[in-house]
Amino acid sequence: MKSFKNFIGGNWVPPIGGEYFENVNPADLSDTIGRFPMSGSADVELAVASAQRGFEVWRATPAPARGDVMRRIGDLMVKRKDEIADLMTREMGKPLTETRGDVQEGIDTAYYAATEGRRLFGHTVPSEMKNKWAMSFRRPIGVAGIITPFNFPMAIPTWKMFPALLCGNACIFKPAEDVPETGHVLVEIMLEAGLPPEVIQLVHGLGESAGAAIVNHPGIPVISFTGSTETGRIVGEVCGRMHKRLSLEMGGKNAQIVFNDADLDLALEGVLWGAFGTTGQRCTATSRLVLQDGIHDELLSRLIDRARALKLGDGRKKGTDVGPMINEAAVKKVERYVDIGQGENADLVCGGRRPSGKGMDNGYFFEPTIFARVQAGMRLEQEEIFGPVLSVLRFRTTDEAFAINNDVKYGLSSSVYTKDVNVSMRAMNELDNGITYINAPTIGAEAHLPFGGVKQTGNGHREGGWEVYDFYSETKVGYLDFSGALQRAQIDNYLGTPD
Ligand code: NAD
Repeated sequence: MKSFKNFIGGNWVPPIGGEYFENVNPADLSDTIGRFPMSGSADVELAVASAQRGFEVWRATPAPARGDVMRRIGDLMVKRKDEIADLMTREMGKPLTETRGDVQEGIDTAYYAATEGRRLFGHTVPSEMKNKWAMSFRRPIGVAGIITPFNFPMAIPTWKMFPALLCGNACIFKPAEDVPETGHVLVEIMLEAGLPPEVIQLVHGLGESAGAAIVNHPGIPVISFTGSTETGRIVGEVCGRMHKRLSLEMGGKNAQIVFNDADLDLALEGVLWGAFGTTGQRCTATSRLVLQDGIHDELLSRLIDRARALKLGDGRKKGTDVGPMINEAAVKKVERYVDIGQGENADLVCGGRRPSGKGMDNGYFFEPTIFARVQAGMRLEQEEIFGPVLSVLRFRTTDEAFAINNDVKYGLSSSVYTKDVNVSMRAMNELDNGITYINAPTIGAEAHLPFGGVKQTGNGHREGGWEVYDFYSETKVGYLDFSGALQRAQIDNYLGTPD
C-alpha cells in the first residue's frame, strides 16, 4: 500500500508518532488509496517552528513576485487538471465533471491571486494638516492554520491558501481526513511552482488531534476553518479565548423557491442539480424546495420522475449522475433523518434507502430522496442533513415563501425562480443569505466574488473575491509630517472652529 508523508520543515517526513490512517474509495471499499500520517501536537510543533522561518523569507518577497508563484501554480494545475480530477473522484466520489470543476475553481483562484499581487491596495487620503501625508497599507500577519472539509478538496484549500500566501503569510494546511491525497498533490504543485519550502507545511491527520493541535497552538495567530457548524463552534471557542483571527464557513439549509410564473423546465433542472449534485454534500446544496400552490403538484411529480431516473454509481464511470456519499457515518446520518422525517409525518415520495444492485453494497451509496408535505419547523426542514435529501414545502404568498427561507439558523445560499422583476429584487433585499440566485440553483459560486453566509453559517468573513484579502492582512496606517513643526491632531487646525 502506498504510504504518504507530511511536508514539514521543508521535507517530506513520516509522522513522529509513527501512526497512519487509511483512505478508501467510497465507491469501492476494496480499493484502498493509501495510508496517511496520523499527526499530533509534536508534528504541529515542528510545523510551526518551520513556518515561522518561512514567514520571515516570504514576507520580504515583493507581492508581485508572490503573485508570480500563484500564476505558476495555476499553470501547473491546468496541466494536471484531468489527473487531479480522477484521483479526487477516486477518493471522495463525486463524478468527474464535478471534480474537474473543483480543480478549475482552484485554477481561477490562483490566477485571481496572481493579479492581486500587483494591487493589494491601501488608501492614501488627505491629512487634516498642512504638509502631512496619511496612508494605509497592508502587512502580512504570520502563520495561518488552514483546516478544510472533504467536499471541495481542491477549491476550498485554494480559496484559503492562495490569498493567505499572496498577502505574505505562511500556511499550515490540514486537509480533511477523507481527502488527503488531493491535499498532497496540491502541496506538491505549490512546491514545484517555486514556493519557498518552509512557507507551506502539510500536516495530515484527524480533526480532534492534528486539527485541534493547530487551533490551540499559540504560534498560529490566524485560523481559517470550513466545516460543520458543530466543529466551528469548538474552533471558535478556542480562538476566542486565544484572541486569534478566525474565519468560519459552516453549514447551510438552502432553499429554492419557485413561483407560479417561473420557467418550470429551468426550475426542474436547477433543483435536480442543486439537490443531488455532489450527492447533496455541498454547503450550498438545495435541501428545501418551496413551491407555490399553482405549480406545486406538477413540478413535484416531474421532479420525482427525474430523481428516480438519476444513475447512481462510480463517479469515474461514464453516465454516472450521482456518486457515493463520503463515508459510513454520513450514510447513517441520512438514514437517521429519513426516520426523523417519517416520524414527523412527512411523505417519503422518492428514495429513502441504500440502493440494491450490482456494486451498490460495496460503496456508500444512497438513493436520491424526496419528502413531500414537509411543514416549516420540522427537524427535517430545519437541520443540515448533508446528503441527497430534499424537503418539499408549499406556499401561497411571497411573504410566506420568504419567511420559510429565513426561518432557519443558517444563511448561506438561496434561489428564486420567477419572471417577476419586483419579486426578484425583493428576494435580493429580503432573503437572509450571503448569496441569492435568481433563476439559477443554490450552487455555483464564482471565484472572483465574495462567498460566505450569515447567521450560523459564518462569522462575518468571506472567502473568494477581493474581501478575503482583508482577512489575511493587517491594516497599518502611516502618517508622514514634513511641516517641520509640531502639529497636534484634533487640537491645532481644528476644523469647524467658528472664526
Ligand atoms: P467537519 O466539521 O467534520 O470537518 C471539517 C474539518 O475540520 C476537517 O478537516 C476535520 O478534520 C476538522 N476538524 C474536526 N474536528 C476538529 C476539531 N475539534 N478541531 C479542529 N479541526 C477539526 O466537516 P466535514 O464533514 O468535512 O464537511 C461538511 C461540513 O462542512 C458541512 O456542515 C458543510 O455545510 C460545511 N461546509 C461549509 C462550506 C462553506 O463555505 N460554508 C463549504 C463546504 C462545507
